[in-house]
Amino acid sequence: MLTHYWNAFLDIIYPPKCPACKTPVQEQGAWCRACLAKILSVRQINKSEHHLTALDSCRVVCEYTGGLKRIIHDMKFRQQLKYGIYLRWLIQKNINIEDFRQIDYVMPIPLHTERLRERGYNQAEAIFKDWALEGKMPWRADILERTRHTIPQWELKFAERKANIKGAFVIRQPEMVKDKHIIIVDDIITTGITLDECARVLKKTGAASVHGLTVASGAR
Ligand SMILES: [Zn+2]
Repeated sequence: MLTHYWNAFLDIIYPPKCPACKTPVQEQGAWCRACLAKILSVRQINKSEHHLTALDSCRVVCEYTGGLKRIIHDMKFRQQLKYGIYLRWLIQKNINIEDFRQIDYVMPIPLHTERLRERGYNQAEAIFKDWALEGKMPWRADILERTRHTIPQWELKFAERKANIKGAFVIRQPEMVKDKHIIIVDDIITTGITLDECARVLKKTGAASVHGLTVASGAR
């Protein structure tokens, strides 16, 4: 009830607007129909095209294009944590939580502690944690850990990316992973190498299945 009044109050102070073009919209976090038409592309990533060998599947909601590009970029590199609401809305409206009834955990691609300190938050957590909890899926950010500081993948040539990420992740609580069905989430999938490496490590530790879910799919 309190949340309802608080939201109504926020709508008066900050009328909801599309983050890309500022057109008034129905609710906080929403995108307008025109901007949505430019970015929306709900689909499964083609595993063989992306050379994904460990991930069982990977779902994306949008193309990394138009207004979405700036929102994702600014959330990651310009401290715009508040943009998380627009990315979460895209997931909430386009991913059916009922499809994930078999899932034991949702976990973000971890950041190295140094990067986490710089940024102040993990963008994947800011986007997906509330979505997972609303769907009654346990959120676990304490199992997968990034132990090595890696160069951002987009700064590297395709051939260098695999070597850059290999061995960067470890499992903190192996007993928690055995026979579990897991979703790993991130803001964007580009080559898929990072997600696939996380899946490889989880599977090696005994995970039954590992699925990816990201807001956007970007060009290589
Ligand atoms: Zn718009």
